[in-house]
Amino acid sequence: IAPSAPSTDRYTKSAAAHARARKVMPGGVSSPVRAYKAVGREPVTVVSGQGACVTDIDGNEYVDYVCSYGPLILGHAAPEVSSALAKAAQKGTSFGMPTEAETVLAEKIVDAVPGVEVVRFVNSGTEAAMSAIRLARAASGKNNIIKCTGCYHGHTDSLLVSAGSAATTLGVPSSPGVPQSVTEHTLLVPFNDLDAVRAAMQEHGSDIAAMAVEPIAGNMGCVPPAEGYLQGLRDLCDEFGIYLLFDEVMTGFRVDYGGAQKLYGVTPDLVCLGKVVGGGLPCAAYGGKEEVMRQVAPDGAMYQAGTLSGNPLAMAAGTAMLDSLAADDFAVYAQLEATAATLEAGLREAAAEAGCPIYLTRVGSMLCPFFVDAEGDEVHNYADATATRTDRYAAFFGTMLDEGVMLAPAAFEAWFVSTAHDEQAISQTLAAARKAFAAAA
Ligand code: PLP
Repeated sequence: IAPSAPSTDRYTKSAAAHARARKVMPGGVSSPVRAYKAVGREPVTVVSGQGACVTDIDGNEYVDYVCSYGPLILGHAAPEVSSALAKAAQKGTSFGMPTEAETVLAEKIVDAVPGVEVVRFVNSGTEAAMSAIRLARAASGKNNIIKCTGCYHGHTDSLLVSAGSAATTLGVPSSPGVPQSVTEHTLLVPFNDLDAVRAAMQEHGSDIAAMAVEPIAGNMGCVPPAEGYLQGLRDLCDEFGIYLLFDEVMTGFRVDYGGAQKLYGVTPDLVCLGKVVGGGLPCAAYGGKEEVMRQVAPDGAMYQAGTLSGNPLAMAAGTAMLDSLAADDFAVYAQLEATAATLEAGLREAAAEAGCPIYLTRVGSMLCPFFVDAEGDEVHNYADATATRTDRYAAFFGTMLDEGVMLAPAAFEAWFVSTAHDEQAISQTLAAARKAFAAAA
């Protein structure tokens, strides 16, 4: 299946903008996925977003399911967030001194997220994961960490390890520039496999600081935890005296106001947050039990700092975002569930009509139709995900783009539904999907 050919003229200005950008930035982008390499198309250059839609430089409008890879749970330019931001910007953009805005957002996080008693703000999910791992090592005095193959925790060296099909393989770096001496402390296990975690803990338990996991894997598509998996991790970590770290950068405030840990009723020792918590601004956080978090400087000796951390604009956007999510007894979550369920049902129907086999996963407003080889194939871990038909996804993606629906330009990303996705957005999406599944089948 070849990637669909773009319609003539529709992307002329985007093509020129990308050619210009390529001269001064690797791939012409600030993050690799945006170069569209996995789908064999020219990247689209966006100029604005409003509600569920983005508009490109050629004036084409798209219903958007990238939603900035997760933060925009209220859609683009949500008025509550934009006006809070405008107000904050009038008062100064950065101080490098304490502000009450940090305490206000920190209190909201502590109230919302069961595993967080004390929290530290940083600027990206990468920093949050890097710092949480450093803290787990500092607090435990141990060196190794366990991570699941296919889970993404940002691009910090020790977590940039993915390949390795055998359980408990010693980590091999995913990128040149990452020394083996760093990743050799990273043990890999398949997602959704408790036996592999037990084996890793039995073999290396005396020197394992933390088990890090995305409680719902959102960077290999969307792969929900198997029944009992998260509780099983909790039990194993307790048995072996290892910190359980939930990376909720994607799931925090998205699948539930209290994150996946609230949804599944399993409380970790350490938590990473990002995306939604910053209302679309560069902001993330790590937190956990008080006894552990007090080891962070200056209360403790684990050093971690940031010039722009707790930035007042990010704090204002995050606070406005969380206030909107908590309003009317968290009514938005029922709305998101209803919208995403309609989308899910419509996608299943469209794929079946087109004779295109999919395995569709969904938790609340995160979903992913995997293009499986044959009806009945399922996806429960990275090996399953990477065995799916990326050629079919590329064809599907191209048709959706041409029909005015913006998806992530890579098969292994979740779709994000926002409160701005209304009936019209969903029906436009499903009309496009009927053509796109036919093109991909
Ligand atoms: N952790 C998870 C679960 C993520 O999904 C991501 C980004 O997609 C990160 C960490 C890294 O966050 P950032 O891109 O803000 O560095």
